This record gives sequence, structure tokens and C-alpha cells, in this order.
Amino acid sequence: MFEELKNFIDASTNLVFFTGAGISTESGIPDFRGPSGFWKTNKPIYFQDFIESEDMRRKSWERNAATKQKITNVQPNIGHLAIADIMSKKPHSHLITQNVDNLHQQAGVPEEKITELHGNSTYASCLDCSTRYELEPIHKAFQEKGELPYCKECGGLVKTATISFGQPMPEEEMNVAQRKTVGCDLFITIGTSLVVFPAAGFPKLAKEIGARLIIINNEETDFDSIADLVIHEQIGKVFSNISID
Ligand SMILES: [Zn+2]
Repeated sequence: MFEELKNFIDASTNLVFFTGAGISTESGIPDFRGPSGFWKTNKPIYFQDFIESEDMRRKSWERNAATKQKITNVQPNIGHLAIADIMSKKPHSHLITQNVDNLHQQAGVPEEKITELHGNSTYASCLDCSTRYELEPIHKAFQEKGELPYCKECGGLVKTATISFGQPMPEEEMNVAQRKTVGCDLFITIGTSLVVFPAAGFPKLAKEIGARLIIINNEETDFDSIADLVIHEQIGKVFSNISID
């Protein structure tokens, strides 16, 4: 099974990885949307409410500052590192991720080879002009002076760079992800159950255009039956068992 995975990867030129929460749980990041996840006990703040209500923005930043303290110092694990290593050997590879934790970048995958479908939680950005802001000064001003962040360039609302509940999927990222999937010869999904839109669309699309599909997840997915290879194992274990030339 590991040998087969290695052979598929070795034979591929246009390889696309697609990762979900499962790869980061091995770094100690909780699966926020999972059965015992954050969103089961905390009511989500919807995008529209964030836009319309200062109270909600206050609540959102309060929560963000608190959560941030809990998940600092997380490090990429063997799965992230293996992906970065494989991608460095394959110039036409690409990574699509549902994760917002920045661990693929930390593992060394260059920014231009990563498409983040749900944004990134390690910084903030202006909702109007997309200017990037670091979180630390925002948290500091909020906690010490109760100040909410506004854009210094245009006065717009500043929000963590993640896609919130009720917020439209980022158009540009969706287009890139689709284009990369259509152009791939091997599509490997890692650590995602592939049930939630838009995740579910990509493996199907990959198969439709004739690419090979590999699914690595610790439990069954709806796409196992159409995959060329299915591995139900811990991700770290899988990648410590293969080496790519
Ligand atoms: Zn702005």
C-alpha cells in the first residue's frame, strides 16, 4: 500500500494535494468543525452579523484573541513536511487546503503553490481593500484599549483572513483550485472526509478529467469507491513509510 502510493507519486508530473483538518490534528490543532469541535459548543458568528454589528465584532475579536493564545507554538508535523518535500521535487505540483493554520507554509511550501479555500487565521485583512494586518497589534489594542480594528488605508472593517460562516467562498481561490484540479494527473486528498462543499466537488472533478485519485484519511469517505488507492491510516504513519526520489 505504501509502495503503491510512492509509485503513483513518482509517476506523477502535475500532482495536486488537497488537505483538510485531519493533517493538522496531528500537530495538536483541534478540528473546529468536527463532532467535538469548537463550533459545537460556541455559536458561530455569521459574516453578516460581523458586518452589521459592532457588538458582534467585539465578540469575534474577544474570541479570536482567546483562541490565539491556545494554539500558538504549533508546529508542522511529518505530514506537512513530507508534502513540502514532495512538492519541492515536483515543479508543477500544487496544494489546495481547507485549513487556515498556515502550517503548510511553515513546512516550506511556497505561498504561490498554496490555495487556501477557507483563508488564513494567522493574520487579518481589510474586507474592502484586502490590506493585510498582523494580529498581535490588533489583539493588543483590543485588549488594552478596547479598540476595534479599522483599515488604515480605506477605513474598512478589518477581520481575520478566514472565511466565516455565511461568507461567500473566495472566487479567485475557487477558480485556481478548479483550474489546478482540471490540469492534474494525480489528486491526493489527505485528512478530509470530503463531505462538505466545496471539498466534495474536487475529487469527483479529478476523476472526471481522468486523473488518478488517492484518498488518505483515518476513516471512510464517500469517494473511497471511485479512488485508485485508499489508505485508512494516520497521516504521519503513512508519510514516515515512504520516501520520494
Ligand atoms: Zn482597506
